[in-house]
Amino acid sequence: MNTNLDELIQAARELVDAGLVTGAGGNVSVREGDDMWISPSGFSFADARAEHYPRISVSTGEVLEGDFRPSSEVLMHLWTYRVRSDVNAMVHAHPKMTNALCCAGHDLQPIFADYYVYLGKNVPHLPYVTVTTPELARLVEEAFSSPDCYGMVLRNHGTITVGSSVKEAAFRTMAMEEQAFIQYHALTVGEPTYLSADECAKLDQLGSEEYRRKLLAEMRASS
Ligand SMILES: [Zn+2]
Repeated sequence: MNTNLDELIQAARELVDAGLVTGAGGNVSVREGDDMWISPSGFSFADARAEHYPRISVSTGEVLEGDFRPSSEVLMHLWTYRVRSDVNAMVHAHPKMTNALCCAGHDLQPIFADYYVYLGKNVPHLPYVTVTTPELARLVEEAFSSPDCYGMVLRNHGTITVGSSVKEAAFRTMAMEEQAFIQYHALTVGEPTYLSADECAKLDQLGSEEYRRKLLAEMRASS
């Protein structure tokens, strides 16, 4: 029994239940000391069990444990962990609303506090790059090399979020999709009112870190 891996498997199944991935789409990982556990290639999160998740050295990329191939997008996980010592978990999903909104040329813009507090100002919207390629992994690594970047949109593909824990990374994915859902519906009935720079600055003054902890504590209490 491994707590980090168990938490990862549970979060991955919640992504399926929430409709944020289908089939064998998406991939998730969690850091374990100098290594990481990553979801296996070709499995739905609903079916993948602990023995299917390979353990890989972050520094060398070598598979240390497991008989199954890692996700084909293993490079973006490895390279991000190498540049972000604060990151312990990554979630890559294919959320429908975010994909719909962003492939139509919109960028996610903060409408409600939780989204802004969890994702902050630096949410890059990367152009489409062929999935699973080192070129995509390099762009992801470059964007996450900014220490204030916790999530990004890959246009015509999906989202990637990171966190100090699996829960935090997963919650950021959900906050992005919730933001996209609200923004999409607001755009269909009128002109959305976004949080102004001033309103965001006031949220910054609240102490994002403190507020994040409060949200996480509430989430744990309600789960
Ligand atoms: Zn993908």
